Amino acid sequence: MPRERRANIGRRTRHASQQQVYSRNLREERKNIIRENDRLRHRVSTRRSLASYNRLAFQYDPTANYSDDENLDIGRMTTICRYCNAVKFKRETVGLCCASGKVKLDPLLTPPQPLKTLFDGSDPDSSHFLQHILEYNNCFRMTSFGANIIREGGFMPTCKIQGQIYHLHGSMVPTPDEPHQFLQIYFISSMVDQLNVRCNIQGAQQLKRRIIEQLQAFFHANNAVVNMFKTALERMPSDTHKFVIRADCTPTGEHVRRFNAPTVNDVAAIIVGDPTKSRDIVVQRRSNIMHRVNETHRLYDALQYPIIYWQGQDGYDITLKMVDPITGVSTNNKNLSAMNYYAYRMMIRTHEENVILKCGRLFQQFAVDMYVKVETERLAFIRFNQPKLRSEDYIHLRDAIHSDGDVQNIGRLTILPSTYIGSPRHMHEYAQDAMTYVRNYGTPDLFITVTCNPKWTEIERELEPGQKPQDRHDIIARVFQQKLKVMMDVLTKYRVFGDTRCYMYSVEWQKRGLPHAHILIWLLNKLHSNEVDDIISAEIPDPVTDPRLHDIVTTQMVHGPCGALNPLSPCMADGKCTKRYPRPLVAETVTGNDGYPVYRRRSKEDNGRTIKVKVQNQEIEIGNEFIVPYCPLLSRIFETHANVESCHSAKSIKYLCKYVTKGSDMAVFGIASENVNDEISNFQMGRYVSTNEALWRLLSFQIHERYPTVVHLAVHLENGQRVYFTEANAAQRAERPPSTTLTSFFAMCEADPFAATLMYVEMPKYYTWNQSTKKFQRRKQGTPVPDWPQVFSTDALGRMYTVHPRNDECFYLRLLLVNVRGPKSFAHLKTVNGHQCQTYREACQLLGLLENDSHWDLTLADSVVSSNAYQIRTLFAIIITTCFPSQPIQLWNKYKDAICEDILHRLRIQTNNPDIQITDEIYNEGLILIEDQCLTIANKLLIEVGMIAPNRSMHDAFNQELNRELQYNVDTLQEFVRNNVPLLNEHSKLIQNIDASGGQ
Ligand SMILES: [Zn+2]
Ligand SMILES: [Zn+2]
Repeated sequence: MPRERRANIGRRTRHASQQQVYSRNLREERKNIIRENDRLRHRVSTRRSLASYNRLAFQYDPTANYSDDENLDIGRMTTICRYCNAVKFKRETVGLCCASGKVKLDPLLTPPQPLKTLFDGSDPDSSHFLQHILEYNNCFRMTSFGANIIREGGFMPTCKIQGQIYHLHGSMVPTPDEPHQFLQIYFISSMVDQLNVRCNIQGAQQLKRRIIEQLQAFFHANNAVVNMFKTALERMPSDTHKFVIRADCTPTGEHVRRFNAPTVNDVAAIIVGDPTKSRDIVVQRRSNIMHRVNETHRLYDALQYPIIYWQGQDGYDITLKMVDPITGVSTNNKNLSAMNYYAYRMMIRTHEENVILKCGRLFQQFAVDMYVKVETERLAFIRFNQPKLRSEDYIHLRDAIHSDGDVQNIGRLTILPSTYIGSPRHMHEYAQDAMTYVRNYGTPDLFITVTCNPKWTEIERELEPGQKPQDRHDIIARVFQQKLKVMMDVLTKYRVFGDTRCYMYSVEWQKRGLPHAHILIWLLNKLHSNEVDDIISAEIPDPVTDPRLHDIVTTQMVHGPCGALNPLSPCMADGKCTKRYPRPLVAETVTGNDGYPVYRRRSKEDNGRTIKVKVQNQEIEIGNEFIVPYCPLLSRIFETHANVESCHSAKSIKYLCKYVTKGSDMAVFGIASENVNDEISNFQMGRYVSTNEALWRLLSFQIHERYPTVVHLAVHLENGQRVYFTEANAAQRAERPPSTTLTSFFAMCEADPFAATLMYVEMPKYYTWNQSTKKFQRRKQGTPVPDWPQVFSTDALGRMYTVHPRNDECFYLRLLLVNVRGPKSFAHLKTVNGHQCQTYREACQLLGLLENDSHWDLTLADSVVSSNAYQIRTLFAIIITTCFPSQPIQLWNKYKDAICEDILHRLRIQTNNPDIQITDEIYNEGLILIEDQCLTIANKLLIEVGMIAPNRSMHDAFNQELNRELQYNVDTLQEFVRNNVPLLNEHSKLIQNIDASGGQ
């Protein structure tokens, strides 16, 4: 049972009419929280010992109580930040709310009536208002909102946006014959006429005229921006006059952010002619052109969200500074980022009523809007600093994206570097790192998908009265982040499946906007096939001996039902379930063809249990065929949908890792825009952001985590790191090429006798790479290395970038790096038995590395774990046509399964039959695709390069249509983009036209 806490902790005092009473209550509330904390501290804890968890999943006991351990309890929001009074969970980071006191913003004030009562949800008017808050806001906003909004209905509504967001403002007065819109409505002289216009705004029909009237009077009386505009309008004698509102007019003084009603005189000006600063808002008296409001303008938020910023307060602007945590005085050197600003704004605090968190659907949109603003700011920074990007970002361009294309115009690319979390390049690097684990430790043992359960008590007890979980994605995100931490502890620190060697996870958002995490676990002791039944079940538990688990499984782990029972289930396509349910009923767990076991699911006749479920108002009986595999222990601890699969023998590890790092295919992003050279705008156009993801990112929660560290190791020819020149840095780069992991490795081999015993890829195990000094340093912690005092080893792994054989000298250089210990320089690497070779290839030859095709074998083996089938085919075609291996057929036989993997996969999807196995026909298709490439590369048939000739007539049996699709993965991705990225709506096209004619 969750621990009880006094009901109003973390709540705001509602009925205190006087500020004095309010403060007294707050003091009281704070005391109570402190008392509660003390009580918890002195409670007799039911802490289990760490050791008792070791391999606990193998000894699941239905009668044990797994949820009373304090270590696994995320607790309540009772930790109070000493700087800003934010309430937090005990394990949340100190800096989450206010960067440890460095962020200090004005408190949000409780609005006066009638808004105060409308926000509290206590009467019918108020619940109606909160339900339609988005529409009410639309009646009063001063700017338009342009974005491709995807709204998911149903039980978990969310707000999702694709691409960019634009706020537009028009003139003060409409041109003759045009209706009044947005800001213009405020200047209609008759209040009754104003009200009529507002009541006719699209979507306002369902609203109450009386409430609109009250709010109208409220904003005219309380909103400083409205009043500023009214004063300005009075002072504008002609239509050619313009009203300029400065983007960042920060008054000086101690209380920098104290809200003062802006006046025309101090923050704005009325001018005739062109303004000077481009971020300013320039409002013409009369015109029919809409202009985009710059995201970093301090009024960006207030103009769009009058209900949230009811006073017309400033939002974020780029001149804001951090403050000294002790004195509270603003520091002049450290800027406040938009991220800092909005993370601060999304907090629950003991001393203030946060109206933002009361806004339900409006809050959903606001969070997305603000996160897009944060990203826009950061992406603009990257765009502006392209010449300063690290040379590493350029060296491996070819490797990172176009591993088989060529990048001639590096200088003309606008790069979104892999350091940008969530960018395609980042995802790609991440997938490659997963492959590093596979290369070192084989396939993972467990694949776990854990989903956020919006009904968790931990979420529900933090809601305000009347709120539903979807009104508070901030709480959903924070609770899920805490639960995920506990989950990773249970798996890795508590070792419920035994010791883990490596792990990685990645957080994603479902269609309905709830977060879930995919986790891969590599165990130290591999899971034996006879142990699978101990930890994974796909059956309905006994309701009598294990009622708790029965409850969880029947509510969380039943798929569908779908198939013939329910053809309308969302998982159905062409009359079949895309998730392959119902699954076969079998008496014993057996290892399946695709690497997943076929779990034991006993039939009714074999004493399998059944349950009754409702499908379209009809009660039907289902059995184990619809149960998603789960681990009893994890289900009992987490009480949510947690799918646990053993992937002990997974052949399809690549598809699995793709799943963990979805979006790693650059092509998805590359197609959406016409400008293929601009990765930043491609990313902006193609991304989707939902409310929960926006909050997750605003609060700086991780979307990936992994252990151990993977250090990326550069591979380049001598001076090859100077690939990127700009006019500004060319001279400097030529004089002093930047140090890389490779040049530093050479330097260490020269200076450090221990390094000289190592291979390049082993360096990270014993040395840390210092990003700022660009040097390797010996590790100071870890396991002592015998015979080498002061040398310590860790689990860190190195990943050398791959080099395509087309890039031949570099390819052979890499081949030397994986074979030669302790090279001291490029020249040293080329030296064999005292003879300095002309080329790296020659050195490889002298070392015997080119005999028996073993290097081609290695190259292909590497490619098998890191590339998709199309890329492996291309590589194979290049090797056989241009590198003349002695036994091409042997290489083909060894790698043909990997080479044809996508053909098989596609065929399974096309025929909706996951049980199809590889056939000679499929190999033949693979050969044809390779031959087509050989013809393109060298104008040679397979038979001419010592290979088997494909059977072209057999190929005709294959559907042409299907075949075309098979050839390029990109086709399906393009299809995906076409279906998922609807054309920008007319609105934003309009904006682009406007921007082209004068915006910045
Ligand atoms: Zn704080
Ligand atoms: Zn289904």
